[in-house]
Amino acid sequence: MHVVVIGGGAAGFFASIAIRECNPAVRVTLLEKSDKVLSKVRISGGGRCNVTHACPEPNKLVHHYPRGGKALRKAFALFGPKETIAWFKREGVELKTEADGRMFPVSDDSASVVDALLLAAERARVELRFHAAVRSIHPPSLAHQGFLLTLADGSEMHADRVVITTGGNAKPAAYDWLAALGQDIISPVPSLFTFNMPDEPIRALMGVVVDPVRVRLLGAGLESTGPLLITHWGMSGPAILKLSAWGARFAHEAGYSFTIQVNWLGGMNEQVVRERLITNAEDLSRKNAINADPFHLPKRHWAFLLEKAAIPPDMPWGQLPHRDRNRLIDLLTNDRYQVSGKTTFKDEFVTAGGVDLAQVDHLTFESKVIPGLYFAGEVLDIDGVTGGFNFQAAWTTGALAGRAAATDRGQRTKRTDRTP
Ligand SMILES: Cc1cc2nc3c(=O)[nH]c(=O)nc-3n(C[C@H](O)[C@H](O)[C@H](O)COP(=O)(O)OP(=O)(O)OC[C@H]3O[C@@H](n4cnc5c(N)ncnc54)[C@H](O)[C@@H]3O)c2cc1C
Repeated sequence: MHVVVIGGGAAGFFASIAIRECNPAVRVTLLEKSDKVLSKVRISGGGRCNVTHACPEPNKLVHHYPRGGKALRKAFALFGPKETIAWFKREGVELKTEADGRMFPVSDDSASVVDALLLAAERARVELRFHAAVRSIHPPSLAHQGFLLTLADGSEMHADRVVITTGGNAKPAAYDWLAALGQDIISPVPSLFTFNMPDEPIRALMGVVVDPVRVRLLGAGLESTGPLLITHWGMSGPAILKLSAWGARFAHEAGYSFTIQVNWLGGMNEQVVRERLITNAEDLSRKNAINADPFHLPKRHWAFLLEKAAIPPDMPWGQLPHRDRNRLIDLLTNDRYQVSGKTTFKDEFVTAGGVDLAQVDHLTFESKVIPGLYFAGEVLDIDGVTGGFNFQAAWTTGALAGRAAATDRGQRTKRTDRTP
């Protein structure tokens, strides 16, 4: 049997290695359109590669995927972070966990992850071909047995099974060749971006981090909580990135023009804020407003909010009029900003959308439209927030699609210790 894997990224390598380790009788050819493989792994995580996340329970893990999480639940139980950690350990790459749960190689160098994948593929005798862009796939028919692949240089290739791991792409046309196979495509839009606010004076506070804040995407019914970073362009940081991922489609449809509501105190309600301000006004009645922040916000940020509330910084705190206090409470709990445009976060964008999961088996990632055709990685309508979740989806779907493509139907979901 000959299996062709299309796309030399994280998912393509995992699928190829899994096939060979599962069934050494199968010939595997991995086709990569460019002259490099694993490019994203190499540049990922700022060159450190955030391989996965320390979240072993599938039921919790799925909550980090704005799209595809539910479909991955059972797959994560078969091959999740625990198996990923063990796989890389077996290949000589020890992972460490940072305080926020992200896992990196102890070397802090993505090259160790790339090298491990290259070595494992070489040992498994995966046949790697560069400059091999696949243009079209013709499923088995009366005219030919198996799949017939046409490459960009006009050459053709036969395969008994095909695994597609071509990654994400925000351009809808990039999926035309898959749609031509009868696969439904969920229209792709970018995910993971920061919010531009060209008209908001808060940009003057660039570099200031407020933690935690609660941010709501008005009109979308979405909110997230976490650190927020004010940037030269607008707002970034985990709270914004998470919201950009969950609200990726809403933001796209709104032309990246929408309003967010910020609670600068992590969601503290108005009544509690009022009580804190009143008690504080009694305790600090002689202090000036600028020195009377009971919430320990960054100094420049507190000064900014006072100015926005038209409270002079030298106003004696004990004499703060009710009207001014109400304005400040409103700003602390219900501040609003107009977003106009987006910026990709450190280029760590992913694509929301892709091959519709409704037409793919959720344990084998085999197409329900064309038997013998498999998908893995970001080409599927799966994407996670930042933190190692996108690679985990690639490892999981790659390993399971590979095992299935290597195995006779009926034995597919068996767990083996050796295979990815
Ligand atoms: C800068 C950056 C940093 C990131 N950092 C992290 C991180 O630290 N942790 C994390 O979890 N996620 C991270 N991500 C997301 C993560 O890299 C992707 O989700 C993951 O690489 C997807 O893997 P994949 O194998 O599905 O696709 P890809 O890695 O995109 O690989 C697809 C491969 O297919 C090839 N290809 C495409 N079309 C064809 C064709 N027709 N024929 C042949 N070959 C083709 C491409 O050239 C490419 O090599 C980052 C993303 C970026 C852009």
